[in-house]
Formats: sequence, C-alpha cells, structure tokens
Amino acid sequence: RKEPLTRWAWVEIDQGALRRNTRAFKNLLGPRQRLCCVVKADAYGHGAVACAKVMHATGTDMFAVATVNEGVELRQGGIAEPILVLSEPPMTAIDTLLEHNLMPSIYTSEFALAYGERAVSCGTIGKYHMAIETGMNRIGVHYADVLEFRREIDFHRGIHCDGVFTHFATADESNGWDYKLQCKRFDEAVAAMKDAGYECGIVHCDNTVASILDGSTHYDMIRAGIGLYGLQPSEVTRPVFPLDPVMSVKARVTRTAHPAMGEGVGYGFTYRVPRARVQICTLPLGYADGLSRTLSNRMDVLYRGMRIPQVGNICMDQMMVAITQTSRQQIPEAQMGDIMTVVGRDGDAEITMDEMAQLRGTINYEVACGFGMRLEKIYC
Ligand code: PLP
Repeated sequence: RKEPLTRWAWVEIDQGALRRNTRAFKNLLGPRQRLCCVVKADAYGHGAVACAKVMHATGTDMFAVATVNEGVELRQGGIAEPILVLSEPPMTAIDTLLEHNLMPSIYTSEFALAYGERAVSCGTIGKYHMAIETGMNRIGVHYADVLEFRREIDFHRGIHCDGVFTHFATADESNGWDYKLQCKRFDEAVAAMKDAGYECGIVHCDNTVASILDGSTHYDMIRAGIGLYGLQPSEVTRPVFPLDPVMSVKARVTRTAHPAMGEGVGYGFTYRVPRARVQICTLPLGYADGLSRTLSNRMDVLYRGMRIPQVGNICMDQMMVAITQTSRQQIPEAQMGDIMTVVGRDGDAEITMDEMAQLRGTINYEVACGFGMRLEKIYC
C-alpha cells in the first residue's frame, strides 16, 4: 500500500534510507563498540516500532527512548534488544520498568533504592544506566558526586549498573572549550568510579554530532538519533557525513477553484487573490499535522517539479496553495487528486526539513517530530 485509504495526506518513510544511515553509524564503530539507536518521540516522528525493526535488521545493539511508555510500545511491538529510558521516571513507573525489562537512567539514590527493593521482591535484578551531569545542567549525578552516589546505592543487591553516560550540550563545537570540559569531567568521573572498584558497564556519551566529529569519545557505545533519520544535526557535519533523508510529506489536492481577483483565502483573509487566473488548491493537512501556522504565506510546496506558494493562514487540518499563471511561468493547472510534496523531492526540486526549520526559526528535529503527530506513515 503506497498511501492511506482514508486520508489524502501522509508521511512516507524510506526504509532503504533508514538502513543506509544506520549502517553509516555502525561503520563509525570498532568491533567491540555498540550502536544505540535513539527512537524517542516515536523515532523523531518516523514511527518507533517500524523504524526499530529496520534498525534491528541493520544491527543495532540497544534502543533509547525518552519515556517509559515509549519503551513499552517497543516491547509490545516485538523489540527484544536492551532499551534505555533516557531519564529517571517517577517511582510509580518502577513496576512497568521491571515488567517490560526497561532500563531507567538513574540519578537519585531514592529512586535507585526503591527500584532495587522492588526488583528483589520480584525475584529479579533491576539494570540501570547512571546519568552523569557534566555541564549541560539537565539531568544526572553531578560529576563531582559520583563516588558518594555509588557508595549510597551500590550495596543494594537488587540493582546492577549496566552503563554510565553523559550528554553533550555543544558537541557541534568539538574543538570548543565547553565540549572539552564536559569530556574531561566525564573521563574523570568514570575513572574515579573504576578506580574505586565500581562497575561502570557500558560507557557512552556521543550523540549524532559527536559520533561524527570526534572518534575519541565513542567509548563503548554511541547514541545516534537525528542522523539515523537522514537529518543533519549541524551545518558542521553536512559536508563530512552525507545522509539520506528518510521522511517525506505528501498530499493530494482535495479541491480546486478560481476565486475572482480580490477574494480572500483562509481565516482572516491574509491572502487576497491578486489577479486573474489564479488557481487555489486545497491540501488536507494543517498545523495539527505539524505544519506550523507560523509558516502561513511563507512556505512553498512542490507540484510537477516546481515550487508553488502556500497562501492564506494554515488551518488546523487544511491549507491552500496558489498556482498563478504569469508571462514568465506557465504551470499546468492542478486537478483534484494531484499529488503535491510538502517535504521531499519532486523531480529536481526539493523542500527539506532544514528549509522548514529555518523558516520557522527552529531545528529539523522539531519539524520532523511535528509531522509524526497525526499523519499516517507509509513505509516504502
Ligand atoms: N542521548 C540523549 C540523552 C539525548 O537526549 C539525545 C537526543 O536529544 C540523543 C542521545 C540523540 O541526539 P541526536 O538526535 O542529536 O543524535
């Protein structure tokens, strides 16, 4: 099936591109180093279970999610690899973690001990990864407190440290002072724990950008996210690590009309038909599908390999585009049911997630997540 049965707007996921990107990250690693594929936020909007299956077939060693429910979804979808939850959930999530064999990130002794107690009463051992705060000031045990933390929890026979990790705030500046300081603090914290005889398990810190730019910090595992989906984390990686975009967004025209000159289009009439021979076409996707309303009257879509402007305010579920005949540009008028590309390629023309992100004043991560919210995903 190449498009949904019930809606003329959809997301296409190119599984071949996903496979190639995943392999590109695998190829950065030595034989003993692991790949953790970050599939949080429904695989950045690409569909977590379906993407995880492709990544599994390409040889991923672990998956990372943001929430416990995301982990449960992977388990229910048949994913058997270790799954790391990238933050410490509320204690009320402990039973679910144990039931589905999900590893939490831990950075409070209260959680660690409650997790251990419950694991013992279930006759199991709760694996966890210890998050270390090295500079981003988001989560983790402060790098100077790691020994004290381990002293407080390591006596407990119900828990086992499967890994230790940190997260970089400025990895796109891999020669920068801030990045190097985070590396130094992480190295020192890990060395201190190892010297004191504490098990550290899998040591990891690299996200996509650090994986690409700095081979010296791969340690035992990298945690790649955005790059798997073919999106560049930074302009710095673009020239050195080509990736294939995985998601495109398409829609079919649901209505065509030729309003008279001066007629308004959409809520508030922020566009008025400026001349004769303007065809207004409706596409059935809107801001509830991730197409931010801030793009109104500022974005294009592709039609027959050409760019045509979106016009009027983007609605919750629909938007309009204009095909204007001029002496310079003769575009065949659209018919109901014609396909238009909102993100992706059409002939030689392309609209990228980065273009949309730039127009919106955000990053490609947010744009991709948005399109995943409601549009049905078609895996090609
Ligand atoms: N590790 C952690 C802790 C994260 O929060 C993220 C994503 O934000 C990643 C890894 C993956 O980052 P990226 O998508 O930039 O590769």
